[in-house]
Amino acid sequence: MSGPSNDNSSLDAATVERFWSRVDIRGHDECWVWKASRRGGGYGSFVVNKRLENAHRIAWEIANGRPATRGLDMMHACDNRACCNPAHLSEGTRSDNMRDMHTKGRGDSRVGSRHPMARLTEQAVLTIRELAARGVRRKTIAEEYGVKPSAIHDIVSGRSWTHLLAPEARNDNAGRRRKTYEKELAGLNLATSKTQATKS
Ligand SMILES: [Zn+2]
Repeated sequence: MSGPSNDNSSLDAATVERFWSRVDIRGHDECWVWKASRRGGGYGSFVVNKRLENAHRIAWEIANGRPATRGLDMMHACDNRACCNPAHLSEGTRSDNMRDMHTKGRGDSRVGSRHPMARLTEQAVLTIRELAARGVRRKTIAEEYGVKPSAIHDIVSGRSWTHLLAPEARNDNAGRRRKTYEKELAGLNLATSKTQATKS
Protein backbone atom coordinates (compact mmCIF):
# COMPACT_ATOMS: atom_id res chain seq x y z
CA MET A 1 0.00 0.00 0.00
CA SER A 2 2.34 2.74 -1.15
CA GLY A 3 1.94 5.50 -3.71
CA PRO A 4 -1.27 6.90 -5.08
CA SER A 5 -2.43 3.56 -6.46
CA ASN A 6 -3.14 1.31 -3.52
CA ASP A 7 -5.23 -1.17 -5.46
CA ASN A 8 -5.11 -3.28 -8.61
CA SER A 9 -7.49 -1.11 -10.58
CA SER A 10 -5.97 0.63 -13.60
CA LEU A 11 -8.39 3.55 -13.40
CA ASP A 12 -6.88 6.92 -12.60
CA ALA A 13 -8.61 9.58 -10.51
CA ALA A 14 -9.71 11.59 -13.56
CA THR A 15 -11.34 8.54 -15.12
CA VAL A 16 -13.11 7.70 -11.85
CA GLU A 17 -14.38 11.26 -11.61
CA ARG A 18 -15.54 11.22 -15.25
CA PHE A 19 -17.27 7.93 -14.53
CA TRP A 20 -19.26 9.05 -11.50
CA SER A 21 -20.27 12.30 -13.23
CA ARG A 22 -22.35 10.09 -15.54
CA VAL A 23 -24.13 8.24 -12.76
CA ASP A 24 -27.23 9.41 -10.94
CA ILE A 25 -25.89 8.63 -7.45
CA ARG A 26 -28.64 8.07 -4.91
CA GLY A 27 -29.13 6.33 -1.55
CA HIS A 28 -27.32 3.12 -0.67
CA ASP A 29 -30.28 0.85 -1.48
CA GLU A 30 -31.50 2.71 -4.55
CA CYS A 31 -30.51 2.14 -8.16
CA TRP A 32 -27.83 4.47 -9.47
CA VAL A 33 -28.81 4.86 -13.10
CA TRP A 34 -26.26 5.51 -15.87
CA LYS A 35 -27.09 8.86 -17.47
CA ALA A 36 -24.92 8.67 -20.61
CA SER A 37 -24.98 6.37 -23.65
CA ARG A 38 -26.20 2.79 -23.42
CA ARG A 39 -25.56 -0.32 -25.43
CA GLY A 40 -28.30 -2.20 -27.24
CA GLY A 41 -28.83 -4.51 -24.27
CA GLY A 42 -29.52 -1.57 -21.96
CA TYR A 43 -26.15 -1.51 -20.19
CA GLY A 44 -24.34 1.79 -19.80
CA SER A 45 -21.19 2.13 -21.89
CA PHE A 46 -18.01 3.91 -20.89
CA VAL A 47 -14.63 4.25 -22.62
CA VAL A 48 -11.52 3.27 -20.65
CA ASN A 49 -8.13 3.18 -22.40
CA LYS A 50 -9.76 3.38 -25.85
CA ARG A 51 -12.01 0.44 -25.05
CA LEU A 52 -15.73 0.56 -24.59
CA GLU A 53 -16.63 -1.13 -21.30
CA ASN A 54 -19.92 -1.93 -19.61
CA ALA A 55 -20.46 0.87 -17.10
CA HIS A 56 -21.64 -1.43 -14.32
CA ARG A 57 -18.43 -3.47 -14.52
CA ILE A 58 -16.42 -0.26 -14.08
CA ALA A 59 -18.61 0.71 -11.09
CA TRP A 60 -17.79 -2.65 -9.54
CA GLU A 61 -14.07 -2.18 -10.27
CA ILE A 62 -13.99 1.24 -8.61
CA ALA A 63 -15.78 -0.12 -5.53
CA ASN A 64 -13.67 -3.28 -5.29
CA GLY A 65 -10.24 -1.96 -6.28
CA ARG A 66 -9.67 -4.52 -9.01
CA PRO A 67 -11.05 -5.18 -12.48
CA ALA A 68 -14.05 -7.48 -12.73
CA THR A 69 -12.92 -10.99 -13.64
CA ARG A 70 -12.91 -11.59 -17.40
CA GLY A 71 -15.25 -14.44 -18.28
CA LEU A 72 -17.49 -13.88 -15.28
CA ASP A 73 -20.82 -12.13 -15.60
CA MET A 74 -21.63 -9.11 -13.50
CA MET A 75 -25.03 -9.68 -11.96
CA HIS A 76 -27.58 -7.04 -11.01
CA ALA A 77 -29.49 -7.86 -7.82
CA CYS A 78 -31.99 -5.19 -8.89
CA ASP A 79 -32.42 -6.43 -12.50
CA ASN A 80 -31.84 -2.89 -13.70
CA ARG A 81 -29.17 -3.11 -16.39
CA ALA A 82 -28.43 0.60 -16.34
CA CYS A 83 -27.80 0.50 -12.58
CA CYS A 84 -24.24 1.25 -11.38
CA ASN A 85 -24.77 0.99 -7.62
CA PRO A 86 -21.92 -1.32 -6.49
CA ALA A 87 -24.19 -2.58 -3.68
CA HIS A 88 -26.45 -4.12 -6.37
CA LEU A 89 -23.60 -5.79 -8.28
CA SER A 90 -21.89 -9.13 -7.84
CA GLU A 91 -19.70 -11.38 -9.94
CA GLY A 92 -21.14 -14.70 -10.98
CA THR A 93 -20.65 -17.44 -13.52
CA ARG A 94 -22.81 -17.57 -16.63
CA SER A 95 -24.86 -20.37 -15.06
CA ASP A 96 -25.32 -18.36 -11.84
CA ASN A 97 -26.66 -15.58 -14.01
CA MET A 98 -28.99 -17.89 -15.97
CA ARG A 99 -30.31 -19.40 -12.73
CA ASP A 100 -30.83 -15.90 -11.36
CA MET A 101 -32.74 -14.90 -14.52
CA HIS A 102 -35.00 -17.93 -14.36
CA THR A 103 -35.65 -17.48 -10.62
CA LYS A 104 -36.76 -13.96 -11.35
CA GLY A 105 -38.71 -14.99 -14.44
CA ARG A 106 -36.62 -12.93 -16.77
CA GLY A 107 -35.51 -14.80 -19.87
CA ASP A 108 -33.34 -12.74 -22.14
CA SER A 109 -35.48 -12.98 -25.25
CA ARG A 110 -34.26 -9.62 -26.52
CA VAL A 111 -30.82 -10.80 -27.57
CA GLY A 112 -31.82 -13.04 -30.46
CA SER A 113 -34.67 -11.04 -31.86
CA ARG A 114 -33.48 -7.49 -31.79
CA HIS A 115 -32.44 -5.55 -34.84
CA PRO A 116 -29.39 -3.70 -33.57
CA MET A 117 -29.22 -1.05 -36.27
CA ALA A 118 -32.79 -0.02 -35.65
CA ARG A 119 -31.93 0.43 -31.99
CA LEU A 120 -28.97 2.74 -32.47
CA THR A 121 -29.98 6.12 -31.18
CA GLU A 122 -28.64 9.47 -32.27
CA GLN A 123 -26.70 9.55 -29.00
CA ALA A 124 -25.12 6.19 -29.88
CA VAL A 125 -24.14 7.40 -33.35
CA LEU A 126 -22.43 10.46 -31.87
CA THR A 127 -20.63 8.26 -29.34
CA ILE A 128 -19.52 5.87 -32.10
CA ARG A 129 -18.02 8.74 -34.11
CA GLU A 130 -16.34 10.07 -30.96
CA LEU A 131 -14.83 6.66 -30.19
CA ALA A 132 -13.57 6.21 -33.75
CA ALA A 133 -12.01 9.68 -33.64
CA ARG A 134 -10.20 8.66 -30.45
CA GLY A 135 -8.70 5.68 -32.23
CA VAL A 136 -10.93 2.90 -30.94
CA ARG A 137 -10.94 0.09 -33.52
CA ARG A 138 -14.15 -0.16 -35.55
CA LYS A 139 -14.30 -3.88 -34.89
CA THR A 140 -14.25 -3.20 -31.13
CA ILE A 141 -16.99 -0.61 -31.47
CA ALA A 142 -19.05 -3.01 -33.60
CA GLU A 143 -18.73 -5.76 -31.01
CA GLU A 144 -19.83 -3.49 -28.22
CA TYR A 145 -22.89 -2.27 -30.10
CA GLY A 146 -23.77 -5.68 -31.52
CA VAL A 147 -23.64 -4.53 -35.14
CA LYS A 148 -21.46 -5.42 -38.13
CA PRO A 149 -18.17 -3.52 -38.62
CA SER A 150 -19.54 -2.31 -41.97
CA ALA A 151 -22.35 -0.56 -40.10
CA ILE A 152 -19.80 1.24 -37.94
CA HIS A 153 -17.82 2.09 -41.06
CA ASP A 154 -20.93 3.60 -42.65
CA ILE A 155 -21.59 5.68 -39.55
CA VAL A 156 -17.99 6.88 -39.20
CA SER A 157 -17.56 7.68 -42.90
CA GLY A 158 -20.91 9.43 -42.95
CA ARG A 159 -22.65 7.11 -45.36
CA SER A 160 -25.37 6.59 -42.79
CA TRP A 161 -26.84 8.98 -40.23
CA THR A 162 -25.78 11.84 -42.52
CA HIS A 163 -28.10 14.31 -40.79
CA LEU A 164 -25.86 14.15 -37.69
CA LEU A 165 -22.80 15.32 -39.60
CA ALA A 166 -21.42 18.84 -39.75
CA PRO A 167 -22.58 20.56 -43.02
CA GLU A 168 -19.13 20.55 -44.69
CA ALA A 169 -18.69 16.84 -43.97
CA ARG A 170 -22.16 16.28 -45.40
CA ASN A 171 -21.16 17.98 -48.68
CA ASP A 172 -17.96 15.93 -48.97
CA ASN A 173 -19.97 12.92 -48.36
CA ALA A 174 -22.62 13.69 -50.95
CA GLY A 175 -19.86 13.56 -53.56
CA ARG A 176 -18.58 10.28 -52.24
CA ARG A 177 -22.06 8.80 -52.15
CA ARG A 178 -22.70 9.92 -55.72
CA LYS A 179 -19.48 8.17 -56.80
CA THR A 180 -20.50 5.01 -55.01
CA TYR A 181 -23.91 5.21 -56.62
CA GLU A 182 -22.40 5.65 -60.07
CA LYS A 183 -20.10 2.70 -59.45
CA GLU A 184 -23.04 0.57 -58.34
CA LEU A 185 -24.98 1.68 -61.38
CA ALA A 186 -22.09 0.75 -63.67
CA GLY A 187 -21.90 -2.67 -61.99
CA LEU A 188 -25.64 -3.09 -62.45
CA ASN A 189 -25.46 -2.29 -66.18
CA LEU A 190 -22.64 -4.75 -66.56
CA ALA A 191 -24.63 -7.43 -64.74
CA THR A 192 -27.70 -6.69 -66.89
CA SER A 193 -25.82 -6.92 -70.18
CA LYS A 194 -24.17 -10.15 -69.02
CA THR A 195 -27.61 -11.62 -68.25
CA GLN A 196 -28.84 -10.59 -71.67
CA ALA A 197 -25.76 -12.06 -73.27
CA THR A 198 -26.43 -15.38 -71.53
CA LYS A 199 -30.06 -15.32 -72.61
CA SER A 200 -29.47 -14.68 -76.30
ZN1 LIG B 1 -29.80 -1.24 -8.84
